[in-house]
Amino acid sequence: VDPGQSKSGITQYRKKHLGKTLSLSYQQPLKIVRGQGAYLFDEHGKRYLDMVNNVCHVGHCHPKVVAAGQQQMAKLNTNTRYLHDNIVNYADKLLATMPDELSVCMLVNSGSEANELAFRLAKNYTQGTELLVVDGAYHGNTNACIEASPYKFDGPGGAGAAHYVHKVELPDPYRGAYQGNTPASAMSYADSVATTLSAIEKGNKKPSAFICESLQGVAGQIIMPDGYLQQVYKQVRSAGGVCIADEVQVGFGRVGTHMWAFETQQVVPDIVTLGKPIGNGHPMAAVITTQAIADAFVNGMEYFNTFGGNPVSCAIGNAVLEVIEQENLQQHALETGEYFMAQLREVQQEFDLIGDVRGLGLFIGVELVEDRVTKEPATDKTSELVEFFKKHQILLSTEGRYYNILKIKPPLAFSKENADQFIKVLRMGLQGLR
Ligand code: PMP
Repeated sequence: VDPGQSKSGITQYRKKHLGKTLSLSYQQPLKIVRGQGAYLFDEHGKRYLDMVNNVCHVGHCHPKVVAAGQQQMAKLNTNTRYLHDNIVNYADKLLATMPDELSVCMLVNSGSEANELAFRLAKNYTQGTELLVVDGAYHGNTNACIEASPYKFDGPGGAGAAHYVHKVELPDPYRGAYQGNTPASAMSYADSVATTLSAIEKGNKKPSAFICESLQGVAGQIIMPDGYLQQVYKQVRSAGGVCIADEVQVGFGRVGTHMWAFETQQVVPDIVTLGKPIGNGHPMAAVITTQAIADAFVNGMEYFNTFGGNPVSCAIGNAVLEVIEQENLQQHALETGEYFMAQLREVQQEFDLIGDVRGLGLFIGVELVEDRVTKEPATDKTSELVEFFKKHQILLSTEGRYYNILKIKPPLAFSKENADQFIKVLRMGLQGLR
């Protein structure tokens, strides 16, 4: 197959030579050739508002990030076996955003790799074997990460939970067993974790870790009830396990009120994994942990990572942190998110199809239902809406077990005007579905 330049040529080539599991968005795929700020451009120069790519966190091709990468790439790129300023300067800047207890930073290349390393750290430190995961969650594409991801192992092609993996209930205040963001619902969901922990103990096993996104992304843009993580962390630790916060999707100021989403639950994790936005699209990721956990990993076996922590990645990561600070992007996420959510709630009053609007900062989910009482998922209408948005040059995707949730997590270059534009198209789209 000749890849050519045409969309159909590229599509055919991908199918034949890049593996058939590589998925594409939209019935008619887009060819995107350029990005800038909150926008993507196709091969004809047509501009799309990107409302789903949280990876290009400070805006597509941010000039300061691009320049930092270009300059360092022209000077040196090598592994960490030589001393270099970039890695220590970057680690120091990143660690400064974390609670004091979290004072060791290990640099890797993808979110999956970060979680993979987190599992190894947890096992070494606790000598436990059992892993607790939240139902519906996704933590990455490696063997261990797939085994930690109910979204995958319970889905098509999955083999169910591995013997050492224990699913706990998804703390979903809208659709779950315990509804509402109340202390009672937080406690009930936490109790279900306690039940799992005592079953592990009865089987004479010990937990290594509980891994949980600080807000649920793939499971459906869910904000867990306040106090849930506090309670669960207490239980997991007293059973001898450690707590891993997966901030791969939700970190770096997106939630607005805080730099890290775990802070909204008032907890300090034992291990934090970072990815996606960390390099604004450059492949890098990190594991942040305590001295004690990092020390327990020193067992004589060398840990080497060819690309992790290289000078180019560190220069890029550093520029991302600088831009977040200089452009006050955390505050921007807070203000723009509040403005946006208020409008979404108004639209919810007008259209019964919107069952729930939830979010923190610029991490937002809009759940569509056929019936507000039965909460029957409006799956087809959600995908129709996503195609309608595309026609109006807005890109977003669906999420959740029933794919009935509009997933909103734009680059933080997203503005109030962009929110207005989305709301206008949303109203039109919903009217069309009536
Ligand atoms: N954790 C979460 C919460 C994620 O959303 C993802 C990616 N979707 C990963 C881990 C894995 O990251 P990566 O694709 O960079 O390996």
